[in-house]
Amino acid sequence: MARVLLVEDERAFLHALSYNLRKEGHEVITATDGARALELARSHRPDVVVLDVMLPGKSGLDVCRELRAETSVPILMLTARSEEMDRVLGLELGADDYIVKPVGLRELLARIRAAIRRARMPTPADAPVEILERGALRMDASRREASWRGRELALKPREFDLLLHMARHEGQVLSRDALLTAVWGYEYVGDPRTVDVHIRWLREKLEEDPGDPRHIQTVRGNGYKLRLS
Ligand code: CA
Repeated sequence: MARVLLVEDERAFLHALSYNLRKEGHEVITATDGARALELARSHRPDVVVLDVMLPGKSGLDVCRELRAETSVPILMLTARSEEMDRVLGLELGADDYIVKPVGLRELLARIRAAIRRARMPTPADAPVEILERGALRMDASRREASWRGRELALKPREFDLLLHMARHEGQVLSRDALLTAVWGYEYVGDPRTVDVHIRWLREKLEEDPGDPRHIQTVRGNGYKLRLS
């Protein structure tokens, strides 16, 4: 059971979603505007936040930025199909994922469940010790620390998970769908562009020339491959 904060001003959608999540045993709190969402997030400390971008008053992007400054709660952004910029911006502001509307209730529930499961992953304190050293990369999975060529890498949580997964499978071609499943944990296929955006950020941190990547290679039509040597 998790505590989910739903932020959406379309009331029919909000009700359908809360009804279904409550039926599955989750505690649901709802807000229809950004200011209220921030209040509730502070007072109720949800496990997951589902946040629509288009809200009256303070936008979902502003709420995301403010929340991220205070907490690491997983944030799922809901964006309209036409608003490509919102998606990338949402991720840059620290959202964990975005979901493009219109979206079926079934898929949305599956994505929320996946976020709830991720939120419950063991915290660093009780995770088993795992240190991975390959080439110039060193990752401490339990402390969630990474270094590259002896320098500490500042990685967002999902960047860390992505790099760790790729490092564990160094040299293998990993499809975007496989990466989504392994790192984001979808039961259903999510938007592969989420992977592309994170790959771009990792390249900016690892590659001498992110425009001509040596380590995180694109395999046309297939996905990505990590080479550390
Ligand atoms: Ca809305």
